[in-house]
Formats: sequence, structure tokens, C-alpha cells
Amino acid sequence: MDISFDKLIKLQKIDSEIISVNAHLDSIPDQIEAIDEDIKATAVLVSGARDKLAANQKKRRELEGEVKGIREQTAKFKRQLNDVKTNKEYSALLKEIEETDQKIARIEEEILNEMIAADDIEKEIKAALKKQGEEEGKLKIERDQALAEQKEIEKKKDRLEKDRSALLPAIPAEQLSIYQRIAKKTAGVALSPVTDDFCSICQLRIRPQILDDLWAMNEIITCEACGRILYHRKPADPPDSDPEKETG
Ligand SMILES: [Zn+2]
Repeated sequence: MDISFDKLIKLQKIDSEIISVNAHLDSIPDQIEAIDEDIKATAVLVSGARDKLAANQKKRRELEGEVKGIREQTAKFKRQLNDVKTNKEYSALLKEIEETDQKIARIEEEILNEMIAADDIEKEIKAALKKQGEEEGKLKIERDQALAEQKEIEKKKDRLEKDRSALLPAIPAEQLSIYQRIAKKTAGVALSPVTDDFCSICQLRIRPQILDDLWAMNEIITCEACGRILYHRKPADPPDSDPEKETG
């Protein structure tokens, strides 16, 4: 029987391309997920700064409430000044009033510090929003590119599958079944060209008798080491028609 090496080589080329296209397709969802994580991270920066501002405002409201309560206390003490009977009571009250005034001064300083901190937080929010705007734009473009790439690769895969379906009927059934059986065991690379008397994939030196038999091209001869179908590369073969590269 004559072996259709040209067709088997063509099939191997298509199959190798399908393997590489599938690997590429498999990697895209992870790529998109990573981009989505980055988009989320820019939003987290903004929401973190906003949370900080909300906490700052809450603290200020609490402190202001505290001041209000102490002022009411001071007013009460001041009213009591009119009713005291002894000097001792009077000076004790004055001391209370002084202490509450000091307390108010302390809290008001704290409020001022919170207000200064709020200015910084506002700046932080603005910076985070700016960064979000820039990064998110960039990331969304990257995401669109990944999706467009995915579509292109899917189209390429369709073309390859069509080419494959068109080619299969032209290969004698027995040769095809040997090819498929070997491909299953070798991660899809069933063919190996002989280069300088060596199996170009596993580097086994091919015996001279087998090299001669290969030239006859009337039987399928497999590599004794890796089990792949051997063939002599024709000088006219363009380099990219070799299924030499193992993709798995
Ligand atoms: Zn081999």
C-alpha cells in the first residue's frame, strides 16, 4: 500500500495548530478574570477612602455631641452659682466650670484634628477616583482586546476543524486509524520527521535498514522509542509544514 504521507503531514499540521489554538483559548478566561480582579481593586481603593471619610464624619458628630452635653453642664453650674450659700461651695463650682471649659477645649482641638484629617481623606478620594478612571479605562480596553482575540481564535479553530473534516475522507481508513491511535498516546503529535538519521522528536538514531524502508513509502514505520510515525522530510517541504514541535 502507498502511504499518503503528504496528507498525514497536512493532518498533523492541522492537529498541532488545533492543539495550540485550544491552549490559547483555555488561557483567555483566566486572563479576563485577572483583568476583572484588577478592575475591582481600583474600586476598592475608592470605597476604602470613602469609608474612611464616613468614619471621620461620624467621629466629628460624636465629639460635637459631647461638647454640646458639656456646655449644658457648664450652663447648669453657672446657674447654680447664684444659689450657693458658702464661699467653699462657690469656689468648688468655679473649679467645676473651669474643668468643663478645659474639657471642651480639649475636645474642640480633637474636632479640629479630625477636620484636618478630613481634608487629607478628601484628597485621597480624589486621587483614588482619578486612578480608578485611568486604570479602569485601560483595563476595559485590555478586556475588550482579550474578548476580540478569543473570537478571532474561535474563528481560526472553526476554519481548522473544517479543513480537518475536508481532509479526513482523503486519507485511507487504515492509515487514519493508526495515526489516531498514536496521536492519542502522544498528546496529539503522531508524526515525526527523520532529521539527519534521527527521530526529530525523541532523538533516537534510526537504523539504516529502516531509513531505506522509509524511502519506499509503502508501509507505516514507527519510531522504536517514541512510537511515532516516521517519514523522510522532503527537501521541498517548507519548514512550517513540520509537525516537529510538540505542543503538549
Ligand atoms: Zn521517536
